[in-house]
Amino acid sequence: MSETYHHSFHKILNVRHLTENTFIVQLERNGLNFIPGQHLVVGKKGDKEFRQYSIYSGLNEPYFEILVREVAKGSVTPKLKKLVPGDELEINGPMGYFTLSEQRRQSHPIVMIATGTGIAPFHSWVSSFRDMNYQMIHGVRKSEEAYGNGAFRKDRFRLCTSQEINGHFHGRVTEYLKKAYFSPDSLFYLCGNSEMIFDAMEILKTKGMNTNNMFAEVYF
Ligand SMILES: Cc1cc2nc3c(=O)[nH]c(=O)nc-3n(C[C@H](O)[C@H](O)[C@H](O)COP(=O)(O)OP(=O)(O)OC[C@H]3O[C@@H](n4cnc5c(N)ncnc54)[C@H](O)[C@@H]3O)c2cc1C
Repeated sequence: MSETYHHSFHKILNVRHLTENTFIVQLERNGLNFIPGQHLVVGKKGDKEFRQYSIYSGLNEPYFEILVREVAKGSVTPKLKKLVPGDELEINGPMGYFTLSEQRRQSHPIVMIATGTGIAPFHSWVSSFRDMNYQMIHGVRKSEEAYGNGAFRKDRFRLCTSQEINGHFHGRVTEYLKKAYFSPDSLFYLCGNSEMIFDAMEILKTKGMNTNNMFAEVYF
């Protein structure tokens, strides 16, 4: 069965540089609907290369935002980093199934686990849904990479910093998971690089968590 996706052009409204290599691109939404957790397939207008980016902004915002980390020698991200207001992006989507139904978020504690820009879909969830019983666990190298942490309730947000001692936990997110307690009825949502996701799922399994309650979005 083939699916057809919406295809459109969107002007850049704003670009905010958060660190030397991470930035938020804000673009026209043009009335497009989406389900928080979905992503856009994005390329510069006229370019032939496209990449996927989770929608970072919430449902009620009049724009779309994506959170991008420039990959050294990457094909697309160095070009996105140079975007300025008025430039246009070509978009396919929104698409994807890394979403959280009302039924799930009302009946289970939600544990969100991300590395780096993998926080983007969770930022969209908490910006869109006010009724979530959640914990956000974010793994980064340095605390300057705690992108968008202002959207999360302080008592529900844990920053794991592997190269600095100024987060809530010094070490990788996987080390944090080994020590943390989770209610057995928790649903686990993991987003970021495949190595972290694989290791984290193994750790959660050894803690007795059910693999049917684990969902992942792999970035690379
Ligand atoms: C569903 C989905 C959602 C995504 N959402 C986001 C998002 O919100 N923000 C975001 O920044 N990226 C996101 N990505 C990754 C993104 O699509 C690109 O792969 C990434 O931006 C690199 O593109 P590039 O063309 O610059 O590098 P490429 O030329 O495609 O890749 C160069 C090399 O870098 C590796 N690589 C890719 N991404 C990274 C990374 N982040 N860090 C280190 N190495 C990497 C690749 O495996 C490859 O070996 C998502 C991917 C998927 C599948």
